[in-house]
Amino acid sequence: MNRVSWDQYFMAQSHLLALRSTCERLRVGATIVRDKRIIAGGYNGSLSGQAHCIDEGCYIIDNHCMRTIHAEMNAILQCAKFGVQTEGAEIYVTHFPCIHCTKAIIQSGIKAIYYANDYKNHPYALEIIQKANVKCQKVALDGMVIDTKSKEKRIFVESLIQKLADQGICDDEIKLLKEKSDRLFNSYF
Ligand SMILES: [Zn+2]
Ligand SMILES: [Zn+2]
Repeated sequence: MNRVSWDQYFMAQSHLLALRSTCERLRVGATIVRDKRIIAGGYNGSLSGQAHCIDEGCYIIDNHCMRTIHAEMNAILQCAKFGVQTEGAEIYVTHFPCIHCTKAIIQSGIKAIYYANDYKNHPYALEIIQKANVKCQKVALDGMVIDTKSKEKRIFVESLIQKLADQGICDDEIKLLKEKSDRLFNSYF
């Protein structure tokens, strides 16, 4: 039996949090960790007790949703609200943070950013991360962590597609099926 690594465990937690997002423009989750303990978590959403985008629609200005507080900010603010130290902590996020969240992450003393998906990775964000000497590493979520049968399922689907190819289905169609299967097996939302 394979034991789940800390990286995968915390990244899975962020993906779970993302499922709580109330803004459907992007489902993001963030988990702040200190000494291998989860100290805070956040997801994309409105202010507590206020209207949700999923109920009232987004409030868009300049292609940004005004209503939403980003997952990373929510996690950091949770620490502020309850007086939990972020200095020396690490953050696990489902998507590469935006420039505003990157600044907040660095300024809060967080020393490492682990992200699962590239998302408009801003060159200035990368620059300030480097200058601040903050570790930044891509840690993709491995499907096997949340679905222990995902490998078997994938092999099974691939064998079915191969059977179709053997039956003489045209290459273009096989290619489309393979692409669709890859997309499904590589996404978690
Ligand atoms: Zn929204
Ligand atoms: Zn952000």
